[in-house]
Amino acid sequence: MKTYDIFIIGAGINGAALAYELSQRGQKVLVFEQEEIASGGSGAAGAFINPKISKSGPLKELIENAYRYSIDFYTHKFSQFTTAAPLLHIAKSDEENQKVDYFKEHTSLKTSTPSKERTALLTPYASSFSSVFLEESAVVEAKEVCQAMLEGVEYRQMKVEKPLYHEGMWQIAEAKAKKMVLCTGAFEEIFKEPYIKLRRIFGQRCEIKSSTFMPCTIHHTVSVSATKRSGSISVGASHYLSEADLPSEEEGSQELLRLARLSVRLEEVQITQSYSGMRSGSNDYLPILGPLMPSEDPLSSCYSGCYMINGAGGYGFVLAPYLANLMTKHLLDVQPLPEFLKPQRFYARWAKKEARSV
Ligand SMILES: Cc1cc2nc3c(=O)[nH]c(=O)nc-3n(C[C@H](O)[C@H](O)[C@H](O)COP(=O)(O)OP(=O)(O)OC[C@H]3O[C@@H](n4cnc5c(N)ncnc54)[C@H](O)[C@@H]3O)c2cc1C
Repeated sequence: MKTYDIFIIGAGINGAALAYELSQRGQKVLVFEQEEIASGGSGAAGAFINPKISKSGPLKELIENAYRYSIDFYTHKFSQFTTAAPLLHIAKSDEENQKVDYFKEHTSLKTSTPSKERTALLTPYASSFSSVFLEESAVVEAKEVCQAMLEGVEYRQMKVEKPLYHEGMWQIAEAKAKKMVLCTGAFEEIFKEPYIKLRRIFGQRCEIKSSTFMPCTIHHTVSVSATKRSGSISVGASHYLSEADLPSEEEGSQELLRLARLSVRLEEVQITQSYSGMRSGSNDYLPILGPLMPSEDPLSSCYSGCYMINGAGGYGFVLAPYLANLMTKHLLDVQPLPEFLKPQRFYARWAKKEARSV
């Protein structure tokens, strides 16, 4: 039986970023993926790296820290798959104007007034709302960046069902490791714990070619990326609460394009690819990072050395490098993880509710 330091289940952006980080630190990692790299939500993502435009709160602060970290991470380590370009964020409605104005006034991020060239493509409709121009933003090639992170990392195509914990080691197939990190996104949980609830949100994005050159990314009715290194423009994303509501990829892409054109004048457009996928969000919208705890007996060691990274919602590409770094420092340097991100934060509320219902 071959021995590894750490198993990672799932090769989306969370699994890939963690595998990259741990391998850089000399860890022997084995990644299990049931389909192929970035076949889940990660492959569908527009993979825009942007902050959260809102007033305040722990999610905004976390995403802002992650955004700064990730811009630097992608542009320096995976520059070939990263297009750095400014971002013009436009309020989606009159009610949102106030939020955007507040953000603009109070943010410590670099903002400026966009040049005429950068706003020339906006429709009168888009120009009628408040906006903020952020000088630093990026869009990454979702699948390619996950593949690049996993280069040189041992990888097995296999669906993990119920890993065994025996004599202090996790066992999967003919391999064992002391630690295991579940990065399974919106797919069925390997260990289902009732106090952790994942919300699943379906969505689509498409890639287009256009004779119009986009000098910056625009977030409005939908997000339209700057023209990327590849010459393509990403348009995304939609949100559906159930899979049954998802239109066909052809219809979904036409709808995304219609929404994009409410904001930007795009000429001679050809849809080149369409993607569908699921994001997973937590009940409090914060990502989930940390050790798994059994609800039956919180003191039991049945999940010893088993961790999870999940629940990043629509910010998986912004958060993943930052969360992977926190997890790596926890696993290798015993640095504590932030309490407000640990899975067990949901436990007390769930246990109280259970006790009341008995
Ligand atoms: C349409 C769309 C647009 C988006 N746009 C953006 C954006 O612009 N910016 C941004 O930051 N985020 C965006 N997101 C969100 C982002 O994509 C997700 O937060 C992120 O992909 C989550 O990554 P993950 O690794 O947790 O999950 P996933 O990418 O879903 O990866 C989980 C992987 O685990 C594998 N797996 C599951 N169970 C098992 C098992 N039992 N055994 C083996 N393998 C298993 C799956 O096959 C899958 O590959 C978007 C999402 C969607 C759907």
